Amino acid sequence: MIDLRSDTITQQTSEMRSAMATAIVGDDVMGEDPTVNELQELAAKKVGKEAALFVPSGTMGNLIALLAHCDRGDKVIVGDQSHIYTKEAGGMSAIGCIYPFPIPNQPDGTLDIDDLSMAISTNDNPHHANTKLIALENTHNACGGRILTPEYTNLVAELAQLRGIKLHLDGARIFNSSVSLQLPITEFTKSVDSIQFCLSKGLCAPVGSLLCGSREFIYKAIRIRKQLGGGMRQAGFLAAAGIVGLTQMVGRLADDHRRAKQLALGLSGISQLLVDPSVVQTNIINLYLKGKFAAKADKLSSLLLDREIEVDVKSQSDLRLVTHYGIDDQAVDHVIAVFHEIFSNLSLEMDKTAQSKH
Ligand SMILES: *Cc1c(COP(=O)(O)O)cnc(C)c1O
Repeated sequence: MIDLRSDTITQQTSEMRSAMATAIVGDDVMGEDPTVNELQELAAKKVGKEAALFVPSGTMGNLIALLAHCDRGDKVIVGDQSHIYTKEAGGMSAIGCIYPFPIPNQPDGTLDIDDLSMAISTNDNPHHANTKLIALENTHNACGGRILTPEYTNLVAELAQLRGIKLHLDGARIFNSSVSLQLPITEFTKSVDSIQFCLSKGLCAPVGSLLCGSREFIYKAIRIRKQLGGGMRQAGFLAAAGIVGLTQMVGRLADDHRRAKQLALGLSGISQLLVDPSVVQTNIINLYLKGKFAAKADKLSSLLLDREIEVDVKSQSDLRLVTHYGIDDQAVDHVIAVFHEIFSNLSLEMDKTAQSKH
């Protein structure tokens, strides 16, 4: 099976399995797991923050950040395509009574600076909710793994500072940005107040994310993690795999990016598919079905499944492909060939049906 649905499906490397087997652990809720502590120190150093906290998922990392930055009734400015707004089950509202204020994500994943500026309400007006936070996402998942540049991030941070609010970064795939633009990770994180990144995606660890920020912020975050039930006891077994992810699996993300580009180029020859290889910057490819294949995503997906290829169906006209550790050059070539074959067979089939109707 060639599984292109997501980089979350990645299996653990043999180095990870042996690191897990031999990890020295303790009770992390008491702060006594040396492997978790090592991972947290490593993570904080990598992103240039004072402290870090190991959490069970990216969703919990984002939720803790929102709860730490905001009180009940406070307003958070989010992108309308952001993971926080669309894919985290409304946690900020359900649990924190926090009010999300969506503004349009541009096709490159950014939020327009004028839109942002207008969305920040004047907090001394009692008609308005207090704006406390802006949340950015890098790379931007729904926008096709697009990268927010350090310049853009700094610009948003300047605006936030000027208006007295905080900036959180959902950096689930921030290492993909750093590797793709060949810039140190700290360039993308230095101007944000908090950042969450995932170990469980391209970095191939089984479970977990890190929430990073100031010492004061992480002190607050520890209590909130406990409230949410995210305190994990001998979590060092998971952290051990995370350490391998952070120290050994970052550089190889470049392979995923190269293969995604190759895949997009190979598929761009199919006239019924809208795919723009020039916007494939990392490991995510968005495909749009058009012409006589418009709204046939389920059909395409099941034909691919017959050929042992799995893709992510986003809507009846949108598909997503994600490259990762389990996808090699041969798989990419094979997928391109199968797509071409399916589309030419389907075209013939449809033309015949159309003719027989006349
Ligand atoms: C995957 C993802 C998350 C959440 O991570 P989980 O570990 O699946 O909860 C958050 N933000 C973005 C952009 C993601 O892609």
